[in-house]
Formats: sequence, structure tokens, C-alpha cells
Amino acid sequence: MAEETIFSKIVRQEIPTPLLYQDELVTAFRDISPQANTHILIIPNKLIPTANDIEESDELTMGRMFTVAKKLAKEEGIAEDGYRLIMNCNQHGGQEVYHIHMHLVGGQPLGKMLDL
Ligand code: AMP
Repeated sequence: MAEETIFSKIVRQEIPTPLLYQDELVTAFRDISPQANTHILIIPNKLIPTANDIEESDELTMGRMFTVAKKLAKEEGIAEDGYRLIMNCNQHGGQEVYHIHMHLVGGQPLGKMLDL
């Protein structure tokens, strides 16, 4: 059983982070250290540590993450100009919190996809 992170506490609102969206599958809130004018995290309510741990039974949740990203991008007024959806995996991907999350970033030109 993987260890919970702070994100599980946010889902349960044990840490009172303002939520932008929550349903039975996913939760969304603003990144505490935004890297762009808009920087939102969309996470599954259940703990899935990395992209490597996603199972077929999670497909509905994964799809929900995308439809919520689309909805929030529209609400933020960044849908037409565009944005980027990112999920980092493990060390080479730069993952810091081991509860998968989709970064929704935008509100400005984002430059090259990778800066290696
Ligand atoms: P990653 O490097 O893909 O694992 O991204 C983790 C992200 O979580 C970073 O952008 C952090 O700024 C963000 N983060 C960590 N703790 C919190 C928190 N308590 N509330 C909101 N965002 C957080």
C-alpha cells in the first residue's frame, strides 16, 4: 500500500485548500507555487502514486481528469489561447508528489515543451 501524500489530505479537506472542482472521482485546486499565470492541479481522489500505477479500472477517472481540465481552462478564460497539460512521472520526469496530478498551465505563452 503506497503512502498517502498531502494531496489525500486536500481531497478530504483536512488541509483547507480552496477547491476549484470536486466530484466523486477527481479534485482540482491551484498549485501552491504557480509556474504560470494559471497553474491548476487536477488529481484523482484515490491515491495512484505514479503514471506507472494507473490501471484499466482507472480509465474513467483518467478521462474525468481531462474533461475537468477542459472545463477549468474555459472557466479561467485560457481555452482559446491554449494551455498545456502535464503529468510528471518518477525521477526523470521531475515528479515531487507521489499522488498523480495533471498540471493545467497557461495564461501566457509557454515556450518550448522541453528545456533539456
Ligand atoms: P510534480 O513535480 O509534478 O510532482 O508537481 C508537484 C506540484 O505540487 C508542484 O507544482 C508543487 O508546487 C505542488 N504542491 C505541493 N504541495 C502543494 C499544496 N499543498 N497545495 C498545492 N500545490 C502543491
